[in-house]
Amino acid sequence: MSGKLFVISGASGVGKGTVLNRVMAQREDLSFSVSATTRPPRPGEIDGVHYYFLSQEKFREMVDNDEFLEYDYHAANGYGTPLKQLEEKLVNGSVVLDIEPNGAENVRKKRPDAVLIFIMPPSVEELERRLRGRGDTPEEQIALRMDRAKWEMEQRFWYDYVVVNDDLEACVAEVLKIIAEKAD
Ligand code: 5GP
Repeated sequence: MSGKLFVISGASGVGKGTVLNRVMAQREDLSFSVSATTRPPRPGEIDGVHYYFLSQEKFREMVDNDEFLEYDYHAANGYGTPLKQLEEKLVNGSVVLDIEPNGAENVRKKRPDAVLIFIMPPSVEELERRLRGRGDTPEEQIALRMDRAKWEMEQRFWYDYVVVNDDLEACVAEVLKIIAEKAD
């Protein structure tokens, strides 16, 4: 394997998806690890592009057969990094994983040379504002998401890098700089 693994984590609402899209657009040599999940697709999400959308049974089967580099359950749904696809991608270059901190911790255990990057919002208040502004999170879920976000943010201390997404362009530039330093 020649490529490097980059793990990107950050609470929902932090703008991680936008940061990742920009980073991937500027580094065509990078590939994105498509996770498997048991949650249903959101509007616009394509099977095999954003996630592999699996039944609970199929996900369980992959867990039992050791087909994930790591997996975790989040809001009653399974999320996992399929090992075979990841290894195939690593042959051709570096790979970016968008996973939450439990997954990141397990990746670090299995691949100690993985580079872990945590994206932070400018403040907790701003994160809540962005989460509401996105309009895809029902009001009763906001408090739950914020509790989870606070826990995730406490995990940033054991990541290799913490990047604040205050200014989008600056955040993208910072992530690209880390990737250039570590991958090239
Ligand atoms: P969402 O359902 O909003 O797409 O993702 C929820 C959370 O699951 C996000 O924090 C995302 O980073 C995380 N996630 C996505 N794929 C994986 C995976 O393969 N493994 C783990 N551990 N977390 C994942």
